[in-house]
Amino acid sequence: MKMLSGWGRFPKVECRVVRARTQEDVRQAVLEAPLIARGNGRAYGDAALNPGLTLDMTGMDRMRSFENGVLVAEAGVLLGDIIQAFLPRGWFPMVTPGTKLVSLGGAIAADVHGKNHHIDGSFRTCVDWIDLMGPDGTVTRTKQGDALFDWTLGGMGLTGVILRAQIRLRRVETSWIVQESVALTSLTDTIAAFEGAMDAPYSVAWINCSAGKTHGHSILLKGRHALPQDLPMDRTEFDLGRPGKTPVPFGLPFLFKGAALRTINSIYWRLQRRKAGRAVVDWDSYFYPLDGLANWNKLYGRHGFVQFQCALPKDTAEAGLAEIMEAIAASGQGSVLSVLKRLGSQSGPFSFPMEGYTLAMDFPTNKRSLALMERLDTITMAHKGRFYLAKDARMPKAVAQADPRAADFAAMRKQAGMAERFTSVQSRRLGL
Ligand SMILES: Cc1cc2nc3c(=O)[nH]c(=O)nc-3n(C[C@H](O)[C@H](O)[C@H](O)COP(=O)(O)OP(=O)(O)OC[C@H]3O[C@@H](n4cnc5c(N)ncnc54)[C@H](O)[C@@H]3O)c2cc1C
Repeated sequence: MKMLSGWGRFPKVECRVVRARTQEDVRQAVLEAPLIARGNGRAYGDAALNPGLTLDMTGMDRMRSFENGVLVAEAGVLLGDIIQAFLPRGWFPMVTPGTKLVSLGGAIAADVHGKNHHIDGSFRTCVDWIDLMGPDGTVTRTKQGDALFDWTLGGMGLTGVILRAQIRLRRVETSWIVQESVALTSLTDTIAAFEGAMDAPYSVAWINCSAGKTHGHSILLKGRHALPQDLPMDRTEFDLGRPGKTPVPFGLPFLFKGAALRTINSIYWRLQRRKAGRAVVDWDSYFYPLDGLANWNKLYGRHGFVQFQCALPKDTAEAGLAEIMEAIAASGQGSVLSVLKRLGSQSGPFSFPMEGYTLAMDFPTNKRSLALMERLDTITMAHKGRFYLAKDARMPKAVAQADPRAADFAAMRKQAGMAERFTSVQSRRLGL
């Protein structure tokens, strides 16, 4: 037995863990007991936890073939490994979340989105087929257009165990990003700037969601893959330079409260405003700024933290976001990492994104922040939004079930015999 948690370190659950190295290991586990597959543990909450049996897939990490940007790899391969192997040859993931430390299986199961969702959609865009082990231990190759494929993208491991998949990478001419950053002073201006940047391949904003003078101030970062002619003379086209990770030796939970938090947010915005403009930055700092800080999840102290991430439809997004930000400021709490992205249209019956905006925020785990998040649930639902299961650790069942797709997903799982075989702490909490 092992004490496990997601990235937020809440909740912590004692689980029996079995590590799979081969397809036969997975089959034996599936036939032995109800289980949930686990990738690299970067989902924030309890999606990859099951006390009876949690199947660690990180041992299935072989890349099988690669030709002209088309990669076949096992589910435990990390996006970071794919980048290390193929960026020097001019290929980069088509869609990537804000950390490269996710497994291919985890990226598929959560149908992750990146800073380019408004143009390229979610991870499913680049997946050709998946080999999935079902409840009776048989393997099905499911591809674009199949119902099983659709449910598996965003199905959070609850349709079966992903063994391997074929994905397409993106051709790039350098490993650098041309970044343009803009400092903005209100939510309205931020939304207008996003709408004006719909042709930018990548866009993301940090926005100040705590009370104080810089409430609503944001930094919008637009980006595109650099061409050789964009680079200063002293840079080579492909430079993977592996900056060392700065370790976080102990928690600093007092930084995430009250005046300290307001000061950090305000200083951060002022510093970034000074740096606003065009710059050529390396791929790692642009896509994965947090990966440079090893174990930053320990900063919140021993109780960990909870992320709240919602998506709001385009027509209600600004009003909904304003209400959410006001509720946070009024509660005297705040988030040091509040990330806003523009989402484009989305297919798939159970994936998280919808055309509009998504806001993600981290809060320390305590009674006050849990109560605040219940208030944010209500606001999100009133604006016809939805919640990201990959970040969730605490949503009440009634909130999850308010999404009409949840009942369809649960019915499909029951009918296919998946419900009795694939189960997680999250799926039971939410009635999936
Ligand atoms: C710093 C940070 C930034 C992030 N930014 C983003 C972002 O920008 N966009 C975004 O969409 N997400 C983001 N995430 C969330 C992350 O991308 C997802 O939670 C992803 O699923 C994690 O992958 P993992 O391999 O760690 O999977 P885990 O956390 O181990 O598992 C996540 C889910 O995938 C399932 N799963 C894993 N492997 C398999 C398998 N082989 N077969 C079946 N199911 C499987 C699990 O059952 C679970 O439901 C971020 C997370 C962090 C820590």
